[in-house]
Amino acid sequence: MENPEQRIKIAVQKSGRLTDHSLDLLERCGLKFTQSKDQLFCYGENMPVDLLLVRDDDIPGLVSDDVCDLGIVGLNVVTEKRYALQDEGHEALFDQVFELDFGHCRLSVAAPEGTDFAGPQSLQGKRIATSYTATLGNYLRENNVTAEIVYFSGAVEIAPKLGRADFICDLVSTGSTLAANQLCEVQTVTQSEAVIIQTRASLSPSKQEWVDKLLQRLDGVLQVRESKYIMLHAPRSALAEIRRLLPGSEAPTVMPLEGDDNRVAVHAVCRENVFWETLENLKAAGASAMLVLPVEKMLA
Ligand code: ATP
Ligand code: ZN
Repeated sequence: MENPEQRIKIAVQKSGRLTDHSLDLLERCGLKFTQSKDQLFCYGENMPVDLLLVRDDDIPGLVSDDVCDLGIVGLNVVTEKRYALQDEGHEALFDQVFELDFGHCRLSVAAPEGTDFAGPQSLQGKRIATSYTATLGNYLRENNVTAEIVYFSGAVEIAPKLGRADFICDLVSTGSTLAANQLCEVQTVTQSEAVIIQTRASLSPSKQEWVDKLLQRLDGVLQVRESKYIMLHAPRSALAEIRRLLPGSEAPTVMPLEGDDNRVAVHAVCRENVFWETLENLKAAGASAMLVLPVEKMLA
């Protein structure tokens, strides 16, 4: 029987904003899994990979303590854990591998509408409610500001109304929650998006091989998102200009066209989206018969 110790464990948010995107990303890497009845565990059927479904706040700790080999979590949570450990004199035993381009938000300071704010100094001596005490503490220290941090585990936005704080420091994406509470964003503390983190513990060669394979596939999935395959015909003389206009493309394939010595076929992978404007500019440069196709998989 397969040794369960040799299976890779990935910590993923159980239920929240990151869950669907995280599972979708892993499925795109070719992972097929079945969920346990208690919905806390997903068993990978076609790879030695299992998912642990947990609260997002627990993910950095699970990876740092080597309970999980990898974790998908917001950078805001990772940063908070790093600072919290640092404040206790410990080091986080995980590394951030790469950003995953979803779960975008920012940790910002907000104040009741009409509050005067002229930069971090305006926070001097004030009370700020947040769940991100370590990140905010570090931010205040960096800006030489002394303020009282009031811990709220959730619903931070009601703190000013309750008379518990002058400002709040919380995650914002659209700003609609702030607006609904008559709050105004006054200062960004950090930007965030989902990231994948990896334990610093050394893995057995077979486990390491699968982790490398999975990370390579993840990288491919991320690259492919915006990538397009473009095919066109162009005058040989316009090649330099055509290459300049192709967004994010490396060494295109240039092929002769039967019966036409002056024109060539150009095929290229563009690492960025190809917009109508680009096609119009290519046409103006002499290109014709343009086709833009989505790229499904890519392995560098
Ligand atoms: P859990 O039960 O797992 O602790 P949670 O309530 O802490 O869930 P969610 O609200 O699902 O977490 O948010 C998870 C992550 O989604 C955040 O840590 C952050 O990285 C990201 N995120 C993106 N936009 C927002 C937003 N507008 N508000 C809060 N989080 C956001
Ligand atoms: Zn959480």
